[in-house]
Amino acid sequence: MNDEDKLILDSIDQFLERDVRPYVRQLEAEDEYPADIVAGMKELGLFGATISTEYGGLGLRASTYAQIVERVSAVWMSVSGIFNSHLIMCAAVERFGTAEMKQQYLPRFASGEMRGAIALTEPNCGTDLQAIRTRAEREGNDYVINGSKLWITNSVEGNVLACLVKTDSQVDPAHKGMALLLVEKEMGYKARKLKKLGYRGVDTGEVEFVDVRVPVANLIGKTEGRGLQQILSGLELGRINVAARGVGVARACLDESVTYAQTRKTFDFPIAQHQAIQIKLADMATRVEAARLLTEQAAEAYDSGERCDMEAGMAKLFATEAAVKNSIEAMRVHGAYGYSPEYNIERYYRDAPLLAIGEGTNELQRIIIARQLVKRNPV
Ligand SMILES: Cc1cc2nc3c(=O)[nH]c(=O)nc-3n(C[C@H](O)[C@H](O)[C@H](O)COP(=O)(O)OP(=O)(O)OC[C@H]3O[C@@H](n4cnc5c(N)ncnc54)[C@H](O)[C@@H]3O)c2cc1C
Repeated sequence: MNDEDKLILDSIDQFLERDVRPYVRQLEAEDEYPADIVAGMKELGLFGATISTEYGGLGLRASTYAQIVERVSAVWMSVSGIFNSHLIMCAAVERFGTAEMKQQYLPRFASGEMRGAIALTEPNCGTDLQAIRTRAEREGNDYVINGSKLWITNSVEGNVLACLVKTDSQVDPAHKGMALLLVEKEMGYKARKLKKLGYRGVDTGEVEFVDVRVPVANLIGKTEGRGLQQILSGLELGRINVAARGVGVARACLDESVTYAQTRKTFDFPIAQHQAIQIKLADMATRVEAARLLTEQAAEAYDSGERCDMEAGMAKLFATEAAVKNSIEAMRVHGAYGYSPEYNIERYYRDAPLLAIGEGTNELQRIIIARQLVKRNPV
């Protein structure tokens, strides 16, 4: 890590302690969008964390970015959601967009003036994205979009989407008839906020497109038929960041359990001295370390430009399961207090399961890992 990275991480830590931690419990309970926190994130440059400096971003490597995500998620996972899917959209534009598209959008994405989402999932499909039904039909210099998307994070408070659409429903395989379009809110889509078990504060919505006209220039990559590959390649970074969220949540569960176990007494001893609790703490700590190492390894592979879907998949799978397990164990360590909103544990317990679902479920990660194992080891 260079000095500049260290400075950035220090300023993130200060921001989290000063502007986030004191407000989490209330904002979370009220499911309120953290507008003041978002203003602070803009000042820190978080919306441009992985965008190149030539477009006004911080140009951070994935390994530094993963450390930011871990720190943020250890305080409030929802905050990481506000910039994570935005940055996946940015990565798709920077990797595949035309020079004009990059000049037009990336500086506004980096400043946070335009904040975005990735709109893939629909009411009838999430894992099987080739089954999407949202259509974009060419009319002159525009595409006209009709359909709906579901569970789209940042769709209500943000103002732009990287939206996966079908431009040709007849072609086989179906992915050859798919495209990725950059759609601004003022072009006419409507978004409605959904209620959720956890991951509150950040807006996750249902998006409706009724004859929404988008200029052809907003086709990411200029050619139809590559939308699915374009967004899936962005999901490598997405999976590294979900893995980092898992490390953050798993670590928060561990840290609070280690503290609590030394203060809570039963039968005249702090519970940290009972072997049953020691075993839990040891397993939790080991999971955190292993999850962090896998996440670092995937981020380093990504930074070196290697194809890293297996590494990112392993990190995502292990770190998110670590978060789920640690949240359950933290609740056991805390006894009844783990069940109370006066403590953070019940929030971790509600937030963690999302990590096993988002950016490709953990069932899908196992399929990706196994396919890569076979591909990399032909007989
Ligand atoms: C809070 C939240 C935020 C989200 N944010 C976004 C967002 O910003 N953008 C976006 O596009 N989506 C978003 N999603 C959607 C998320 O990506 C999907 O929920 C996820 O991809 C799974 O899709 P699904 O829910 O349709 O489940 P399904 O695809 O219906 O799967 C149901 C179950 O079947 C399993 N399964 C499916 N296929 C297979 C198979 N071949 N083999 C074995 N098991 C299989 C799955 O693992 C899962 O357990 C969000 C979801 C939530 C809950």
